Amino acid sequence: ETNSEGTAPAMAGAMSAEPIPQDKISREDLLQAIEQQQITLAYQPKINCRTSLLAGFEALARWNHPALGPVGPDRFIPLAEHYGLIDQLTESVMIQALRWLAHLPRSLDESVEYDYLRRRLREITLSINISASSLNNTDLFERMAEYCQSMGIHPERLIFELTESCAMEDPTSSLDILTRLRMKGFHLSIDDFGTGYSSMLQLARLPFSEIKIDKSFVMTAAASKESRTVIKTIIELGHGLGLYTSAEGIESDETLEYLRSIGCDLAQGYAIARPMAPEAVLQWLSGGRLS
Ligand code: C2E
Ligand code: CA
Ligand code: CA
Ligand code: CA
Repeated sequence: ETNSEGTAPAMAGAMSAEPIPQDKISREDLLQAIEQQQITLAYQPKINCRTSLLAGFEALARWNHPALGPVGPDRFIPLAEHYGLIDQLTESVMIQALRWLAHLPRSLDESVEYDYLRRRLREITLSINISASSLNNTDLFERMAEYCQSMGIHPERLIFELTESCAMEDPTSSLDILTRLRMKGFHLSIDDFGTGYSSMLQLARLPFSEIKIDKSFVMTAAASKESRTVIKTIIELGHGLGLYTSAEGIESDETLEYLRSIGCDLAQGYAIARPMAPEAVLQWLSGGRLS
């Protein structure tokens, strides 16, 4: 049996439906999970709204604890931050994601019909979530640039997703850090836009390429006029600042159609595809979704 992401659940965890208290997960547990690569990645596609073509994937961390079963990132990411393990986790995520991206074109069947797809897969972007505290770790991003080079991946294909509050914490040092990342070629995206506290002025000054509308607005777009107003305003703001606009949490074709009609650039959500384990991505790709 597999779950919705196409991964086999750990037996013990699959049996217990009760939530796991955070204090049951020790620093030692988490450190071991990172070191042994028990923390893996699911990849969720992002499409170009206008053409419906694949634009890239977002890497989302997954932990299938051998005894506790699946633990969600909303639980273990804050825990990694708390235990001072987040940089190590981020680096492990980055390495896994880059390896995956580098091998993706070759993992498809060797048949000729995939030639076009294989070429596309050499150009798609990869989005990686970065915690606020990791931003200060210049060595981490230095190594990231080196990994890119050694794996033949252009840094322009990577998008680092930062939450609004993370980027705005200390605007002066953020400008410095983000500018240096941008100069290495990496693109920057503001995640969960609309939920944090925002200074439009700071936002305009920071070197972002993309603004990602928070799913709380997108998921309620069909039912709520207020959400639609917020979405439209963010798209206008984003385009006014020369940024790509992206929507996450699209759960219906109706919402996808709506976003298309108001000029949203990029789309992500269950209506397109769920986050998928690597094998499931290959299946999804060979299902002819791209042409
Ligand atoms: P996020 O970056 O805002 O990611 C979007 C979340 O929405 C993901 O939850 C994704 O699975 C979920 N999602 C995608 N499409 C839909 C949809 O149509 N409907 C609904 N209801 N949800 C959708 P997930 O994977 O549980 O991740 C939760 C959060 O954990 C992420 O939110 C991100 O903040 C954090 N996270 C995940 N992986 C990493 C990581 O490698 N590093 C860091 N620092 N944070 C991570
Ligand atoms: Ca994200
Ligand atoms: Ca988000
Ligand atoms: Ca979020």
